[in-house]
Amino acid sequence: MHHNAKVISANTYAGYPTIMTLQELEAMREYAHRDPHAFWLKQAERIHWYRKPTQTFSGSFEGDVSIRWYEDGQLNASVSCLDRHLAERAEQVALISQREGRQDIEKITYADLLARVCRVAHALKSLGVEKGQRVAICLPMVSEAVVTMLACARIGAVHVVLFGGFSAEGIAERLVDSGAVAVVTANAAYRGPKLIPFKETMDEALQKSEGAHKVRSMLVVRTTNENVSMQHGRDHDFHEYIKGFATEFTPVIMDAEDPFFMLYTSGSTGKPKAIVHTCGGYLVWASYTMGMIYTHQRGDVLWCTADVAWITGHTSVLYGPLCNGGTTMISDSLPNYPVPGRWWDLVEQCKVTMFFTAPTAVRALMAEDDVVVKRRDLSSLKLLGVAGEPTSPDGWAWYHDVVGQGRCPVIDTWWQTETGGPILGAIPGVQSLKPGSATTPLPGISMSLIDQNGSVVEGSGEGGLFINKSWPGQARTIWGDHERFRQTYFTMVPGRYFSGDAAQRDDDGYYWLMGRMDDVINIAGHRLGTAEVEDALAEDHRIVESAAVGVSHGLKGQGLVVFVIVRKEAVGEVTEKTVSDLIVSKIGRYAVPESVYLVPDLPRTRSGKIVRRLLRKIAEGHTENLGDLSSLNDMSVVGMLCERVKKQKASS
Ligand code: ATP
Ligand code: MG
Repeated sequence: MHHNAKVISANTYAGYPTIMTLQELEAMREYAHRDPHAFWLKQAERIHWYRKPTQTFSGSFEGDVSIRWYEDGQLNASVSCLDRHLAERAEQVALISQREGRQDIEKITYADLLARVCRVAHALKSLGVEKGQRVAICLPMVSEAVVTMLACARIGAVHVVLFGGFSAEGIAERLVDSGAVAVVTANAAYRGPKLIPFKETMDEALQKSEGAHKVRSMLVVRTTNENVSMQHGRDHDFHEYIKGFATEFTPVIMDAEDPFFMLYTSGSTGKPKAIVHTCGGYLVWASYTMGMIYTHQRGDVLWCTADVAWITGHTSVLYGPLCNGGTTMISDSLPNYPVPGRWWDLVEQCKVTMFFTAPTAVRALMAEDDVVVKRRDLSSLKLLGVAGEPTSPDGWAWYHDVVGQGRCPVIDTWWQTETGGPILGAIPGVQSLKPGSATTPLPGISMSLIDQNGSVVEGSGEGGLFINKSWPGQARTIWGDHERFRQTYFTMVPGRYFSGDAAQRDDDGYYWLMGRMDDVINIAGHRLGTAEVEDALAEDHRIVESAAVGVSHGLKGQGLVVFVIVRKEAVGEVTEKTVSDLIVSKIGRYAVPESVYLVPDLPRTRSGKIVRRLLRKIAEGHTENLGDLSSLNDMSVVGMLCERVKKQKASS
């Protein structure tokens, strides 16, 4: 438990433009608890409605599970994100789009963004896309991705953003599952030095799923000079095709509970599932959560580095900031390419004020010398954020002290594709922070920890992380498989939403994520979260990143195995024994690892998360059936790890 955790008082950030006092925050929590209906109706006022809702939550976590919010309301999300800002901020930059290797940075105003969105809305209509139909968007981080998402919203089509860089199988599986009728993709794009053949992969995916997919047309954005083959009648050059269309488009009026978008989860734990979000609840939630944490003021630039194909990319890159009238930035640059600290150059150049990334990126940036950060002028920054995986207290401290120079609150937010937006996270400058903790639930959210006996943990303790009541941004179903939805989230403890994660809560009510419930390691009765081991190793700066997994063990039930990436300069210096000793000294004798593997990389999803289920199988030698690998970023890592483990086992 984190009883001795460091506490950083909110007063540390005295200059931060806070949105409320701590007393007001407490009053807000109390109000949300006492009168949830009034509270959520008030939050609904954050967005534009054609018909204002009079209802808030209706439905139930019991029985079939049905979740509905603001059911009698009507809206179009693109109006809240664009049209309604025109009176005050037509000429304000809505979107900054930076491309690696290009000098010119695209700056798109609200007026311009609306015009572009309307063009694409017409284009999609002319291709026969109707309200409710799915459009697959598979693009690098270019402005056309944002424009196309909003164009779908404009016409009431359901966007399904797929990671560029998925294999053809991965794309085919998702095209068939979602029933997409149109695809928007790129010819090709560079990711660092590597050319990703978007169009070629898409063609292959369509060919593989011929007869099963429903795709009739494709728009291809030329993001590089690569020539690609175009199928006559089906494929069109994006910019050529949209050129002639009008820059106004009457928004399609949507019911609050009409599907808005669907999004496949990262696939860290198994076969990816398409989570469905609906128009009204999601947008209120995006506006509310982003307004609480990333409140925009004039001149602010929010750069969330997440790919648009992740939930963070929907809520923090696009819907949250635009709904709140902010300036959002996208970039296809890698953190340390072509030079170490590339991202810091961009923060300096684009005067980013709020920077939000994943813990794995923080660790990659931290692996470079501090001089890399200090050489840049990061004085524009005032807020730092992180989400996606547990952040080690040590990584947090580096981010806070070196990147933020101790000036900027670091907000760790916990969310899932299924939660639509952050559930846990501090209000910057208002709440005290604890390095490594995702702090407390936002007002309106009620959470519980439930222990192995099914009892609710009161006060401090540890258990599975549950959400007790619905919130507007909650996923409504898994596309085409409502029963899987019910089973996955609502059967563990009837009447509550089960997150799948394990967590601890300290005496102050702060939450500490331990990792996936399924990944919690049980060594002779001692329960050990993956995060606990990884945090301990993170304290040694010669270690870039690590992953802990439990393997079956004859005597202890489970044994610990760790995979460790050592910093280039320290290879040879850090041995298996160093790692083992570190764990024993930080955690205890019982946690002494069965094996330590020093490896150059770890299997990750495209969103940068370590896929521990794979590591478990590899460590146990069950390499025949590794399950669904379609969300992996780099398949070659798997083969490399299998080899490494086999060799080390044979030699010991
Ligand atoms: P799948 O559901 O397909 O296995 P996934 O759970 O990785 O994939 P996401 O919905 O993108 O897909 O990720 C949500 C998960 O990420 C959470 O359940 C949690 O395990 C982890 N996570 C997100 N934010 C945090 C955070 N701030 N601290 C700790 N863990 C986090
Ligand atoms: Mg998940």
